[in-house]
Amino acid sequence: MYPLHKPVHPPNVITCFPLSHSRMHQYVIYNSQYQIIICRQHGYAIQSRNVIRHFREHHKIISWEIRQRIAEYVHGLITCQLERLETPDDGGEPIHGLTIIKGCQCVYEGCTEKGALTSIKRHCQGAHKWTEGDNAMWTNQAMQTFRQGPHRK
Ligand SMILES: [Zn+2]
Ligand SMILES: [Zn+2]
Repeated sequence: MYPLHKPVHPPNVITCFPLSHSRMHQYVIYNSQYQIIICRQHGYAIQSRNVIRHFREHHKIISWEIRQRIAEYVHGLITCQLERLETPDDGGEPIHGLTIIKGCQCVYEGCTEKGALTSIKRHCQGAHKWTEGDNAMWTNQAMQTFRQGPHRK
């Protein structure tokens, strides 16, 4: 039998791109599940409208030309409002590109509060009447956050 169609080689989109996707991904990663753009180096999500400014202010070492390419790349992506996102879903796969931080999870019954150690302590004091000197009522947990946390260096 003669195949109706020749085996399709996808058109090489990469060559029309001034920066290859793999090179682009050194700088930014698009996560289509959450519709977010992640800065590779910082490990957090950037609002699409802030991408240009972010790279201009924080990545001066990247040439203007590459920053333009990043802006063009990002321009064509569907992104969501970062403000609406909290933390990645529990139990999901870790999100490629986001920094993994050490955090804690409250272990009081029925409570799912998570956060950095200091905020979990504060939470336990406020919500569960925990006091310093009580046993720790949290477990260590690797976490990811979309945003740049206040504890982030
Ligand atoms: Zn960055
Ligand atoms: Zn709690």
